[in-house]
Amino acid sequence: MTDQRRDTHDLHDEEVAHAWQQLVATARRTVADRLVVGTSGNVSVRVGDLVLVTPSGVPYDRLTPDDVTGVDLDGRQVLGTLIPTSELPMHLAVHRTTDARAVVHTHAVHATAVSTLVSELPPVHYMTSALGGPVRVAPYATYGTEELARNLLDALTDRTACLLQNHGTLTYAPTLDQAYDRTAQLEWMCRLWLTAASVPGHTPNLLTEEQLRQVGEKLSGYGQR
Ligand code: 13P
Ligand code: ZN
Repeated sequence: MTDQRRDTHDLHDEEVAHAWQQLVATARRTVADRLVVGTSGNVSVRVGDLVLVTPSGVPYDRLTPDDVTGVDLDGRQVLGTLIPTSELPMHLAVHRTTDARAVVHTHAVHATAVSTLVSELPPVHYMTSALGGPVRVAPYATYGTEELARNLLDALTDRTACLLQNHGTLTYAPTLDQAYDRTAQLEWMCRLWLTAASVPGHTPNLLTEEQLRQVGEKLSGYGQR
């Protein structure tokens, strides 16, 4: 190998190792913050055309740097020996068709409860706009199937988050931290709606399309410049 090729090679290895470390930290956070129980849920992050994914059914606290698991955009395993997440069809569908760099799937309890009740999360809070608009529920299909991946892509049209009926959540973003944050916001909003909707004799006020549109514009300038 030439010196230049070796340098490029080392840089890529470092980038992959760093991305794996962040992926494992994010997966552990979903357990610590009670968005999943045990080995439920999964996380992926893209490094070029490589997609790092959590392995199927392995407790996240056992994952070491040597367990790095990666597939190409067609799902062929190119890194590691552990079997990749069973939800590969869902993760790859998002990576192939959106500008996502990171995808987080959980079984967060309030979000999953909402997924059994409605076909769209009613817009009870302005943070609806941070996810692109009212969050849709993708119709139920068996976990890990291409059918579930198709239903999910429909539900994600113009959104960065959706609910999976009788199953959980999926969000995507340019970074793992942002994808994680979107999941936490979604779970919080589902909890909010369930709380407001469960007061006897009252129905929650919902935001209008115009109110959500105005927030959408304002949110693009939110935070520090
Ligand atoms: P994996 O352990 O295969 O990632 O599956 C967990 C899950 O949430 C399936 O929907
Ligand atoms: Zn799941």
